[in-house]
Amino acid sequence: MQSGLPNRIEKNKVPVFDGHNDFLLRLLSAPEMRESIWLLGGGAGHLDLPRMRAGEFAGGFFAIHVPSPREDEASFRGKVMDNSVCEMLPPPLKVGYAQQTALAMAGHLFWMERVSRGAFSICRSAGEVRAAMAAGSIAAVMHMEGAEAIDTDLDALYVLHEMGLRSIAPVWSRPNAFGHGVPFGFPASPDTGPGLTEAGKALVRACNELKIIVDLSHLNEKGFDDVAANSDAPLVATHSNAHAVTPSTRNLTDRQLAIVREAKGLVGVNFGTVFLRPDGRRSTKTTLEPVLRHFDYLIDQLGEDHVGFGSDFDGATIPESIRDAAGLPRLIDGMREHGYSEELIAKLAHQNWLRLMERTFGE
Ligand code: ZN
Repeated sequence: MQSGLPNRIEKNKVPVFDGHNDFLLRLLSAPEMRESIWLLGGGAGHLDLPRMRAGEFAGGFFAIHVPSPREDEASFRGKVMDNSVCEMLPPPLKVGYAQQTALAMAGHLFWMERVSRGAFSICRSAGEVRAAMAAGSIAAVMHMEGAEAIDTDLDALYVLHEMGLRSIAPVWSRPNAFGHGVPFGFPASPDTGPGLTEAGKALVRACNELKIIVDLSHLNEKGFDDVAANSDAPLVATHSNAHAVTPSTRNLTDRQLAIVREAKGLVGVNFGTVFLRPDGRRSTKTTLEPVLRHFDYLIDQLGEDHVGFGSDFDGATIPESIRDAAGLPRLIDGMREHGYSEELIAKLAHQNWLRLMERTFGE
């Protein structure tokens, strides 16, 4: 099996396949501006077509994350501002609202492909991802963060799979019919509540059958254990870091990392400063040092074949040392200066994600 894209690896030209972004949320919030946001770019946020190309952002998981309605969001945000443990979670979403919003976001993703004239491709298999990357087309995989748009009969799951959905996080940080998301807290344990419901366990089994990745990010510890006990696929946290370095509820404890290692899974390093910095602060004034510290720690715990990128671009406060997708080559350079070999950098930047997709989706 060919591994990665060796011909394209040259200094400052390492393609990145990334485990998580929230670009579709930006389009959802300003649909009338989507053409200039996506095609022309510049300014706000972290992602757009020009900056992806400038930064060798070669592909990634694009999240359909249905936001809580504004009034719920406002009360919830107020509770997490001070970085302390947040007992409160936003209330569950109604399925009708979630389905309508999720379809709108999927529509934006298909629109992005249509107007990109070959520069951006929605991929449904590991082979399609490899082919798109080799052709210089950004390889997008449809991901859903929080399964509220799926009824507990799971009928919508089959529709979404036909549309191209290949990765799903049963919960975001809020409760739904499938389980309980982990509240944002620092410093705090991820053991914050009950695990998956019976419907949640059925969702995991259906995802195994359909070869859809089950994403552990945003689950609490009991929910994590329930996925591990019910899934026969590699365990994946698309955008979570090491709890031992940054004790956020969103990060994974050494015990959880040992379970991911056992299952030959993958953890994508999240660039959100609240998940990176040992002090858990939300601040762009953050160097590459904590990013590299999480890579070091996760490589030590999981092995160098089981760590990737999980930027959280357009969904988190990112260090100014990276700033946006165009800044990815600065991180790659930082890895070189840190002593990582070109071979290791290629694994972290895209090869590990490609192999994980091959193992989960099939060829
Ligand atoms: Zn997230």
